[in-house]
Amino acid sequence: MAVVDREGLVVTANTALGRVLGIAPDRLAGRPVGDLVDLASDARTWQAYREVLSGRQARLNCTRRIKHPDGEWLWVQLTLTPLPEDEQALLLSVKDISARRELQAKLRHLQMHDAVTRLPNRTLFFERLSTALEAEPYDEAGTGRIGLCYLDLDGFKAVNDTLGHRVGDLLLAAVAERLNRCADEAGYARMATPLVARLGGDEFALLVENSTGTEQLAELAESVLKALRAPFDLSGQRLSVSASIGVVERQASGTTATGLMQAADTTLYWAKADGKARWTLFDPERNAHRMTRQALSSTLRPAIERGEFALEYQPLVSMEQGDVRGVEALVRWNHPQFGTLAPNRFIGLAEEDGSIVQLGQWVLATACRQARTWQLEHPDVPPVFVSVNVAVRQVWDSDLVADVAAILAETELAPHLLQLELTESAVMGSAGRPLQALQALSDMGVRIAIDDFGTGYSNLAYLSRLPVSVLKLDGSFVRGFQYEDDGGSGAGHSGRPNPADEVIVEALIQLAHRLGLTVTAECVETSGQATRLRRIGCDTGQGWLYSRPVPPDRISELLRGAVRSVR
Ligand code: C2E
Ligand code: MG
Ligand code: MG
Repeated sequence: MAVVDREGLVVTANTALGRVLGIAPDRLAGRPVGDLVDLASDARTWQAYREVLSGRQARLNCTRRIKHPDGEWLWVQLTLTPLPEDEQALLLSVKDISARRELQAKLRHLQMHDAVTRLPNRTLFFERLSTALEAEPYDEAGTGRIGLCYLDLDGFKAVNDTLGHRVGDLLLAAVAERLNRCADEAGYARMATPLVARLGGDEFALLVENSTGTEQLAELAESVLKALRAPFDLSGQRLSVSASIGVVERQASGTTATGLMQAADTTLYWAKADGKARWTLFDPERNAHRMTRQALSSTLRPAIERGEFALEYQPLVSMEQGDVRGVEALVRWNHPQFGTLAPNRFIGLAEEDGSIVQLGQWVLATACRQARTWQLEHPDVPPVFVSVNVAVRQVWDSDLVADVAAILAETELAPHLLQLELTESAVMGSAGRPLQALQALSDMGVRIAIDDFGTGYSNLAYLSRLPVSVLKLDGSFVRGFQYEDDGGSGAGHSGRPNPADEVIVEALIQLAHRLGLTVTAECVETSGQATRLRRIGCDTGQGWLYSRPVPPDRISELLRGAVRSVR
């Protein structure tokens, strides 16, 4: 401590102050306080100091960094207050807080870094990101842009689960080291080194401030994938991992930390969905599509109640006689905003959020009512059956058997006029409840068809043991033997289709027949295809050659035409 006069000169100082400042107390007398503790270097502190000296303010409190004569830097906290018993004097106290500051810094480092990898953690990452985004757009040599590689290890959970957390931690630390190396190398080439942070679990981020464009980020992502490609040696364990990276690069102004992270998260998800072990660049259009997905999914349920769905029907034609035996009901969404939507746009969503159950009930009821109406309106022709697509989830999450029984009873439609189409994956490996449901439906007299047959892994012998009676051959088979009969004259049709396809399909049909199944071919578009399908024994065809999916009144017209031709 020291007593100071109104001019700011030391009157007397104690030994402790002498020690802190590294000057003998008697040599401190007469020296200006402002110099001793470096008050002039900061204008605001200086002004406050002057005001305390002149009595306009009661107290000065501040922290200064000063150089000790032995060369060390100290942090000191000082206060200056008037002495109560002496108008002309003030009391200065100077406290060495270096140790406390150091401890604080250490704590901060601990708080801001991850113990496993020693990388900056999520907190520090977001602090740096926010600062970078707040920076003046045309700051000095800045580009006003920002880039981020958001990385996630593929299959890290399996490493943890099979080799234990210790090896998992070693792997994370080793990955961190390689990421740092990539960042350093990128730093040599450019101005600043990207910040590498661990955001949690097996997620890492490389933040590039003042990025120059997507190429720079692509280069960085590429180098990271390359660096991780070499196997890791972890205390005797040789391990290979890959990573998926979402890359976002954009103008810093107008970008928020949350916005950037959301974009990075979506992009990382794409990288994973596209097959992992790759980097993917943020694509606003793909994102817009995702937004529409969200918009669609949030309005699905109310849309069912508002009656925005409609069914179209596509004829199923006998290959031998060429007459319509049945129709497949295909749902459409007349969306008030997006227009008519094909089922591929929303069935998946409806399955994800469960609204497929409600939608499926509506489709089933509408299709059965329609089939019964046709039957009553056209008593002179053999009734057509209706084939309704059923999603896996409907078998699992609803009482499909009860729903079907109720709707058949209500509409008085004969069970054999209803066919249900399930995909291979829905029936494969079905045991317990789904199998019981299929059996009960089949016992009721409802036919079960396997839709898109050939796209999954079904085994025909297995299928034949299930209560299934129809196979719908996936369109890709028919597309396989496209050209031959369409005329060798056909200009541009150079490629002869692979005869193996036809051989396979023929064998498939024969086998199906022997197992008691009938076969419907999807996507019959040309008469050439129809001829060959007929030749190899296919029972029924469906496709544009016969008709596109059409509204119900067009089917009525078709049936009226059939009456005429019968007469
Ligand atoms: P799917 O059951 O295999 O239906 C056949 C699809 O092939 C229909 O597409 C149809 O328009 C199309 N198609 C028919 N003939 C041809 C052709 O000659 N060439 C080509 N290229 N395509 C043809 P759509 O209507 O877009 O339906 C797509 C899928 O959506 C259906 O495939 C079905 O899996 C599903 N789906 C449709 N309606 C429903 C429904 O009510 N419930 C459920 N769960 N799924 C449905
Ligand atoms: Mg179908
Ligand atoms: Mg199909």
